[in-house]
Amino acid sequence: MAYQVMKITGDVFGIALWDSSWNSYNNCYLIKRSGAFILIDCGKEEQSHELMAALSQIGVDREHIRVLIATHGHKDHTGASHLFTLAEKWIHVHDAVRLSPKQQEEFQKMDSCTGEIRGLSFTLLGHHTEGSIALYDPATHCLFCGDHICFFGEKLPQEGLLTFGAHLRVKTREFVTAWSQNQEDRHKYRFDVFVQGLQLLSSYKEIEFLATGHGPVLRTQIHDFLNSLVSATDNPTT
Ligand SMILES: [Zn+2]
Repeated sequence: MAYQVMKITGDVFGIALWDSSWNSYNNCYLIKRSGAFILIDCGKEEQSHELMAALSQIGVDREHIRVLIATHGHKDHTGASHLFTLAEKWIHVHDAVRLSPKQQEEFQKMDSCTGEIRGLSFTLLGHHTEGSIALYDPATHCLFCGDHICFFGEKLPQEGLLTFGAHLRVKTREFVTAWSQNQEDRHKYRFDVFVQGLQLLSSYKEIEFLATGHGPVLRTQIHDFLNSLVSATDNPTT
């Protein structure tokens, strides 16, 4: 199947769109909130058909989407924005330049480091791209972290999109540890900004679900996971 839909909790749904050209899932999230449907990220333009099919499986037409928030400006998160003609669209101002000229006209810009949109709080992380944000839903304790942490190229487990993801946690921690020990990569990929972002993520209290830009969604013990990543960074060499 070219996509998978799963209820994460309450009225929050995860949609994983399979991208055969990248061999990865590109994720979107739908929040049903008192009649206003909020979509977080929207996949590539060429995934429009799958996204529409996934939404209709949840019982949502594209006209129902009243808010679209992009976690950042890459095309796998913003490409299908044209579908949502009735939605107010949001992106952080630092990533506006990544949009097409038409999209730049359509999107409203967040211009602060933290704030709130339609009951979701956002925080600028600024690592994966300059305008990458995380969104936190205090009503459901879902943390949407875009690609700051993500599981690009990972298959979905047998139980579906939502998983504890023990091996993903270990794998991510190993990746961060190796990065922390490589002086060249620390500098090249702005490791310090990445770590600051982890600390910002872990500052959200009571996170139950970690919903990233690609692949499986993690449930439970999210603070333990984030803290284990922060402690894995505590490893400067030379
Ligand atoms: Zn992405």
